[in-house]
Amino acid sequence: MVKSSCNDALINSRLHMVLSKAVSQSDDSVHSMFASRYCRTSLPKFKMPENSTPKEAAYQIINDELMLDGNPRLNLASFVTTWMEPECDKLMMDAINKNYVDMDEYPVTTELQNRCVNMIAHLFNAPLTEGEAAVGCGTVGSSEAIMLAGLAFKRRWQNKMREQGKPCDKPNIVTGANVQVCWEKFARYFEVELKEVKLREGYYVMDPEKAVEMVDKNTICVAAILGSTLNGEFEDVKLLNDLLLEKNKETGWDTPIHVDAASGGFIAPFLYPDLEWDFRLPLVKSINVSGHKYGLVYAGIGWVIWRSKEDLPEELIFHINYLGADQPTFTLNFSKGSSQIIAQYYQLIRLGYEGYKNIMENCQENAQVLKEGLEKSGRFNIVSRDIGVPLVAFSLKDNSSHNEFEVADMLRRFGWIVPAYTMPPDAQHITVLRVVIREDFSRALAERLVNDIEKVLHDLDALPAKISAKLAIADEQSGVAHVHLKKTDLEVQREITTAWKKFVADKKKTNGVC
Ligand SMILES: *Cc1c(COP(=O)(O)O)cnc(C)c1O
Repeated sequence: MVKSSCNDALINSRLHMVLSKAVSQSDDSVHSMFASRYCRTSLPKFKMPENSTPKEAAYQIINDELMLDGNPRLNLASFVTTWMEPECDKLMMDAINKNYVDMDEYPVTTELQNRCVNMIAHLFNAPLTEGEAAVGCGTVGSSEAIMLAGLAFKRRWQNKMREQGKPCDKPNIVTGANVQVCWEKFARYFEVELKEVKLREGYYVMDPEKAVEMVDKNTICVAAILGSTLNGEFEDVKLLNDLLLEKNKETGWDTPIHVDAASGGFIAPFLYPDLEWDFRLPLVKSINVSGHKYGLVYAGIGWVIWRSKEDLPEELIFHINYLGADQPTFTLNFSKGSSQIIAQYYQLIRLGYEGYKNIMENCQENAQVLKEGLEKSGRFNIVSRDIGVPLVAFSLKDNSSHNEFEVADMLRRFGWIVPAYTMPPDAQHITVLRVVIREDFSRALAERLVNDIEKVLHDLDALPAKISAKLAIADEQSGVAHVHLKKTDLEVQREITTAWKKFVADKKKTNGVC
């Protein structure tokens, strides 16, 4: 009897353990998601967890962590599209499981890409005869497009040098010091020397005269930018073309031009149709454009177009035969999504020339509103140009007590993401703030931003000058004797910029400009 009751107690307690375990396991469906054990432990960061997580919990946890990302619509640092029509969102979601490279399986997607290539080539005035197919392809972005264009120039130049029995082991490319980082990547990855034309204060793009001076027999191409990343300014491609034609005639070389129209390629044809920067100029052999910038598609699409078949060496092209047709491909990667290509085709036919023009005009007007608001404050120099990509780049007239980095920092409190950065050599003592105006940046937001910048200035005026105080302390600590020579404004500005550059570089390694 006694024995049996003891056994009962044991069984009971075991049963209880099993039951309580079962209850705690079911708590994720019974109790609040946030109180469930999945949300009560910290997330794995280095090793894949042993066990699975229910889908609702996984979703919630990741969704919540992502809340701390900035709001893309208020990210004024980027040219990249942050809004599309719901109809296009739907087309993209419907195609999210299509691999672009499966051309046999998705011939319509391939066809849409080819239509985009042709439309863009015509937009850039490629010399095509009636019914002739354009030469070009879709890429992940302008970076891949530039790698491909650069490789084509390198191979063409090598072939020519070999034919002439000349050495071809020291190729170089001439650009302005304002080039986007992808050109530096191209140069390093594919072993081409990058010869950069230096900038100077007040002139932040490549000087065509200096660029042509730098061209030598090993120059595979001169890369001009239509819409400098730093201040949106268009480089003078026509002048570059004319000067280079002259030099080619004198020397017998045939140095070509590539136009990096990542941001300007979908601006100039609509706002400045008479500006000659594209295939109307004989030396322009290839052009890239980011579909995900003013092409108005979400991140993940770029285009490269060649003037003609002769400009793309045949040995770089791989041929895929499907359904009896020949599909030439020239890409760095193999698989990629189809959605962006479908979305680009949507935008091209949905908006048409009229729609793009309308959107770009609106962007330009909003840029004007912002620029005028900033000018009215009397505190800023405007570094961007009226003709160019719709953005406003500006620097403080007086940054001796508070500077652009502090303005950027304070604007974050209002939700705005506005980058501050220093210019490349020889204008590295200039710091600018840059606001990119995209389709979804409305007039109301532009006016609000002006107000918020004014509030920031007002708040900063009330604060002690952080950096000059820091400099004074640093000087004292390092025992620097205070020689009371009056520093020039430029010296003071340089000193402050250097100190801030260091301060910011220590805090984060990228400057957030893309
Ligand atoms: C954005 C940009 C690039 C890089 O383009 P991605 O599409 O982001 O790869 C290259 N050049 C210029 C001038 C740019 O503005």
